[in-house]
Amino acid sequence: PPTGESPPWYPAPKGGTLKSWADSYKKAADMVSRMTLPEKVNITTGTGWRMGLAVGTTGPALHVGFPQLQLQDGPLGIRFADNATAWPAGITTGATFNKELFYLRGKGHGLETRQKGIHVLLGPCVGPLGRMPAGGRNWEGFGSDPYLQGIAAAETIKGVQDQGVMATIKHFVANEQEHFRQSWEWGLPNALSANIDDRTLHELYAWPFADSIRAGVASVMCSYNMVNNSYACDNSKLMNGILKDEMGFQGFVMSDWLAQRSGVGSALAGLDMTMPGDGLFWEDGKSLWGGELSRAVLNGSVPVDRLNDMVVRIVAAWYQLGQDNKELYPEELPNFSSWTNEKMGVLAPGSKTPQEESEVNQYVQVLLPHKDLARQVAAEGTVLLKNEGVLPISRDGLVGIEQKKLHDGKLKVGVFGEDAGPGKGPNYCKDRGCNQGTLAEGWGSGSAEFPYLITPAESLKREFDEDKVTITEHLDNKLDYYKRNPSVLAEQDICFVFANSDGGEGFLAWGSVGGDRNDLSLQKGGDDLIEHVVEKCGNGNGDTVVVIHSVGPVDMERWIELPRVKAVLYANLPGQESGDALAELIFGDMNPNGKLPYTIAKSLKDYGEGGQIMYLPNGVVPQQDFKEGLYIDYRHFDKYNIEPRFEFGFGLSYTTFQFSNVKVKSVKDKSPLPSPRPAASAEPPTFDESIPDPEEALWPSDLRRLERYNYPYLDSVDDIKQDPYPYPEGYDVAQALSQAGGDQGGNPDLWETYVTVTVDVTNTGPVAGKVVPQLYLSYPDTEPEIDFPVRVLRGFEKFNLEKGEKKSVSFDLTRRDLSYWDVVQQNWVMVTSGQYSFAVGQSSRDLPVVAKW
Ligand code: BGC
Ligand code: BGC
Repeated sequence: PPTGESPPWYPAPKGGTLKSWADSYKKAADMVSRMTLPEKVNITTGTGWRMGLAVGTTGPALHVGFPQLQLQDGPLGIRFADNATAWPAGITTGATFNKELFYLRGKGHGLETRQKGIHVLLGPCVGPLGRMPAGGRNWEGFGSDPYLQGIAAAETIKGVQDQGVMATIKHFVANEQEHFRQSWEWGLPNALSANIDDRTLHELYAWPFADSIRAGVASVMCSYNMVNNSYACDNSKLMNGILKDEMGFQGFVMSDWLAQRSGVGSALAGLDMTMPGDGLFWEDGKSLWGGELSRAVLNGSVPVDRLNDMVVRIVAAWYQLGQDNKELYPEELPNFSSWTNEKMGVLAPGSKTPQEESEVNQYVQVLLPHKDLARQVAAEGTVLLKNEGVLPISRDGLVGIEQKKLHDGKLKVGVFGEDAGPGKGPNYCKDRGCNQGTLAEGWGSGSAEFPYLITPAESLKREFDEDKVTITEHLDNKLDYYKRNPSVLAEQDICFVFANSDGGEGFLAWGSVGGDRNDLSLQKGGDDLIEHVVEKCGNGNGDTVVVIHSVGPVDMERWIELPRVKAVLYANLPGQESGDALAELIFGDMNPNGKLPYTIAKSLKDYGEGGQIMYLPNGVVPQQDFKEGLYIDYRHFDKYNIEPRFEFGFGLSYTTFQFSNVKVKSVKDKSPLPSPRPAASAEPPTFDESIPDPEEALWPSDLRRLERYNYPYLDSVDDIKQDPYPYPEGYDVAQALSQAGGDQGGNPDLWETYVTVTVDVTNTGPVAGKVVPQLYLSYPDTEPEIDFPVRVLRGFEKFNLEKGEKKSVSFDLTRRDLSYWDVVQQNWVMVTSGQYSFAVGQSSRDLPVVAKW
């Protein structure tokens, strides 16, 4: 279709087509076949915003033993919970480039989530992907590259789900900016439409969702925005076509909170669960499903088999994660409330109906075992961008790799800037919706309460040996303060200056920052502070170390090249262990090994037209054409030959590494198309598909109604007649199944290894350290010419090398890694003429060895 139009894809593919889910579907089918109509509807429909203790709660199917599912944010911690870990954010985790840590963080987070009584975790997040560096929610995901996002999400999901918690991959798809993501927050009649061509959708934005589905993710959350002018949660091409047919998704699609914009339409388009269950507005008690779904099924507008499929998908996911095991979920409800910190509270504070209080907060301690892991992720997710002889600094004041003594007296170290300190406390603003104190999370639903936050100033003061080092702190950004007290800078040998840049989800604004940042500048006068500190530190002879906390790239041009800026540490969003993680790197306990998960440019303009947020709507349905196609982040800089300040994948170490001896081993012969799609390995369950007796949907007489709560019942069924709303175009035509499909994530051949690349890496420097070899693929030239990015990331590993040690690393490249999406053939195609080249090195622009295949 032309750009900006979404083709119809009906009817919704049924779940239960894969052997790996067959047992769960069998059990689920047995349970669902015993449910009444309202019980089925209950499972698809949230009870409403603040109509339960979690941010999302479904209705139960009591008489068959299916519980209310408890759904809670989010990607970096358990939102609104006490005594739980505030992990490093997704972007920090991405910067570790460490697959094992991706998994372990997910596992730790999953365990805590289960111990708090949550069935469905609303994370991880891979959309936004990071098209725009100022995008408000980029920090919830793992970085501006689909391959990195895909692996990080898959490992996180495995970790979370190994604990028996259903993970949710979100937001599907193209919620790349916060402005106009939905109508009501921005005073518009409609949300923005992200207009994406089919190839770009496959190769960039949908790519990490395929990895997530392949990892067995239980749930996918569709996004607020429109995609090609059809709301993502109403979009049959996206949900029926891409997720359920092509990617073989066996779990359930849930809406983002109020992202469902039509009742019958969304059901037919493949939505399986509406969250939080309200109608078009918060707490309106006018669900588009609930009783209305009962009515739509009874009058024939939503086929019974679609309802059964929605329900069996949800119940099968519950069995698939083993949640029927009472030991995993001994209690019916979460043991904390999202809406109060008091011990006692009501269960549905969103309702006006008076309710009795019960113990809603048990203050269960779940964070203890994860402190070291959270610190390790934060430390490995901190990127050393510049180091000219100053780091590491030992606790007793010896400086640089050579550990020099600067002079005979005590070393004088100063810590400067609000971002080094506690501010008014880490949870001062709700959902972290302001910038104060040291920055360790962005804001919005993706934030969590800090159980504590170890600040950089606190760690440095604790760790330096006070007999050898004098450390003072000045947690102020105001230049006035420093002008009035010039000695606090003049007397130092080394100055640590901290600055930050914050952003977040669009429902909150901090000053003029309405979610998306307005620019890439440091906030709160950070640039002025850094310049002043650099100028005055040690009377102009001191060494300055800059530390940045940020939700994404910042413009460093004012100070990065100043000769007395001796080191720059980019700490992203480190979570609760912030100061201790940073200290590990400063003291050299850990050799820095984080890599940039995005490009840091010399200016926002350098990211190109597609990299700019739309701040003014350009229509009733703002149209955002993704005209740059595949060329975001480093793909853009490489194509247009723009020199970034620091390229994607970059990060220094205290040691050096050398790459040599690259080898290519063909595992399978090149061939253009994957093997034909395999037949379904299981049969979807069948149910009695006749329309139930309408009386089933009537209000039970013994139920106490809570005002504004969403129920599956109808007051009267007298007016129901078989009067189906006409099904959308294409509903009665069988769709050709996608040849790119056939298993979770897609055609299984896409995941077969076709070629292996092996490289030797040697630690040639003075100390041990972890190295991150990265493989970038360049496609062969083709006739006729196909447009390909200069290079794309297709492999990375991380391991430690002792001083002088050499190890070899190998990268397996799958058919998908080697293919592009052909819009005519509607399939992944490998190039069989010419040669692929595989360049390996330490960043997207430091690629010393190249092999051809
Ligand atoms: C966010 C989702 C979140 C949901 C529930 C929405 O506003 O976009 O990411 O999971 O709220 O809190
Ligand atoms: C009925 C409407 C109803 C809709 C959704 C239609 O078939 O005609 O009255 O609102 O289904 O339930």
